Amino acid sequence: MTEIKLETTEAAPLPPELESAFREAYEIGSAVTGTGRVADYIPELAKADRRAFGIAMLDGQGRSLCLGDAETRFSIQSVCKVIILAVSLKAKGQRETFSHVMMEPSGDAFDSILKLDTRSNRPFNPLINAGAIQLVSTLVEDFSFEQLMDEARTLCMDERICLNEAVYRSEFESGNRNRAIAYLLKSKGVLQGDPEKTADLYFKLCSLSVTAKSLAALGLVIANGGVDPFRGEQLIAREHVRILKSLMFTCGLYDYSGKFGVRVGVPAKSGVGGGLLCAARGPMGIGLYGPALDEFGNSVAGVTAMEHLSRQLNLHVFDY
Ligand code: GLU
Repeated sequence: MTEIKLETTEAAPLPPELESAFREAYEIGSAVTGTGRVADYIPELAKADRRAFGIAMLDGQGRSLCLGDAETRFSIQSVCKVIILAVSLKAKGQRETFSHVMMEPSGDAFDSILKLDTRSNRPFNPLINAGAIQLVSTLVEDFSFEQLMDEARTLCMDERICLNEAVYRSEFESGNRNRAIAYLLKSKGVLQGDPEKTADLYFKLCSLSVTAKSLAALGLVIANGGVDPFRGEQLIAREHVRILKSLMFTCGLYDYSGKFGVRVGVPAKSGVGGGLLCAARGPMGIGLYGPALDEFGNSVAGVTAMEHLSRQLNLHVFDY
């Protein structure tokens, strides 16, 4: 794999107002992080430092900023659903991908089985567990975990992304609800492959070890129409970027997606590991890490910091 470097030496200095907005956001986020709770339904996640908080920013000119725990490794959790969707769109195309999942916010918890059993055979969207598990089942025969990890490394410009074995083991041991989703999909004839193999690959993808900086790079690629601005390579087709951004906007923050859309207005995806991926105008990628979560399962510090950044930097997509 080619050497990937985040910082470019020729990058122009950051405008002072940009830098101070990020520093303020970091202070504001740090002040509230203690009010959240670290996820413990996957026992290994409970070991995270609830006071940790980091922000990373990377823009199209190669300017970057890392504050606090921006380079701390944590598990990607649900943010991997964006990568799964991108791979599915590339490998299977739009039509086939959306023959397996819908594009609607579910209004239910990310791991809910309710509507899947009563209302629809197709999962509501690819960013809830059922949707991601269904898409993984369509990839499991064509892709090894290592190949998918390589996709993640490329999209996040981070060759150090690896499997967090302890988180994977913990997910594997406690992931009965996700297995139940896979078996329910199988019972309906929706999931084609082996539910156990599918759940296993899904657990591994959730256990990829990333940093806020890796999420900032992925955010930048998405914000930049799918192109890695440093190598000029189209990593995600433009029409697929539109799909990713739309679903991130409508479904990216669990049952807080609507409020986040109104208050922040940036396509984003959070995970219960405390990660928050944002694709902002500029183009600018913002990655945040704060494992203390709010009642919806989003990083308290991450969401609070993004509210501040959106106001200060006019990031709301419907304001420009
Ligand atoms: N691995 C987690 C699960 O499936 C991911 C959940 C999340 O981050 O929303 O339960």
